[in-house]
Amino acid sequence: AARAIGDADAPEAPSQARAPSELLTPGISCVIPCFNEGANLRHLLPRLEEILWATRLRWEIIVVDDGSTDDTAEVARAWCELSGFRCISLSRNFGKEAALTAGLAAAAGDAVVLLDGDLQHSPDLIHKMIAQWTAGAEVVYAVREERGDESRFKQLGSKLFYRLLDTSDRFAVPKDAGDFRLMDRKVVDALMSLPERSRFMKGLYAWVGFRAVAMPYTPAPRAQGTSTFNARRLVRLAIDGLTAFTTWPLRLVSVFGLLFSLSAFCYGLYVSIDYLLFGNPVSGWTTIVVSLMFFIGVQMISTGIVGEYIARIYEEVKGRPLYVVSREHGSGLRAGKP
Ligand code: UDP
Ligand code: MG
Repeated sequence: AARAIGDADAPEAPSQARAPSELLTPGISCVIPCFNEGANLRHLLPRLEEILWATRLRWEIIVVDDGSTDDTAEVARAWCELSGFRCISLSRNFGKEAALTAGLAAAAGDAVVLLDGDLQHSPDLIHKMIAQWTAGAEVVYAVREERGDESRFKQLGSKLFYRLLDTSDRFAVPKDAGDFRLMDRKVVDALMSLPERSRFMKGLYAWVGFRAVAMPYTPAPRAQGTSTFNARRLVRLAIDGLTAFTTWPLRLVSVFGLLFSLSAFCYGLYVSIDYLLFGNPVSGWTTIVVSLMFFIGVQMISTGIVGEYIARIYEEVKGRPLYVVSREHGSGLRAGKP
């Protein structure tokens, strides 16, 4: 019932006595991971403030400065003079997934909205997300309607990736859904309770479940600066995702081993019979060299696949923190328009 207060059309709250916690207006936290977004933050923060203010809910904006080398921290800290704004500076660049985790850990709201700092995720959608949340959705995630701005190669790669990732029949990672989303406190707590170090967020969101509503949107082009997710980073992210959420590559290695052993056995049988019955001498220097190289290659790839999983185990066992906070500014949720 407390949520309905955020809804402009909601009827007046009943006047009967309530627990003190219920009397509080729900709060929204906006988490913005930022790596060199100083110029974009100058536009985004005022716009976001206006939008959150108009929701009549309590709100806070958390900028996570992921080791930026530009004026991101200065811009964010200047806004922290106003209540409702917070800035968490990480001690270096830890990557978007870590920055998101830092923001989620700090968020105090009853719902948390994640959005990029480059204005690709339009803050105007937040109103609609909050409306869905008020109506009972526990997760509202934005889905890209078109990927037309992306290269053929990237589109193909993303398609292939989702195919490879989709192996669980219990949960599915929605395609074309990114980090732009609203999550209820329950969902955030569930996410934060996952202990793993390799945080492939798209997978984790799906893993925790909850009632989710998709919201189509068209991402705007990046306002300023360039994307840091180049081909190399994307491939690494894809491998992170696959190792964290699937084990079929390991089984594939066994299947390959089995197939090759079987074919080697059959070929051996054929050569022996050919020699014993028909007296054909065994020949084929080229065959030996080619097949040797082929099988050594397959073996190395297999070792590599196993190695990827072992590397993840090593990361987990080390148990290093996901990020280190160097400075924090600002505090508290601020009341919205009365
Ligand atoms: N980002 C971050 N740390 C990084 C790389 C990116 O916090 O190491 C942030 C970045 O500032 C932006 C968001 O993550 O707010 C998405 O990054 P980007 O626009 O580069 O990626 P793309 O939109 O191409 O997915
Ligand atoms: Mg971007």
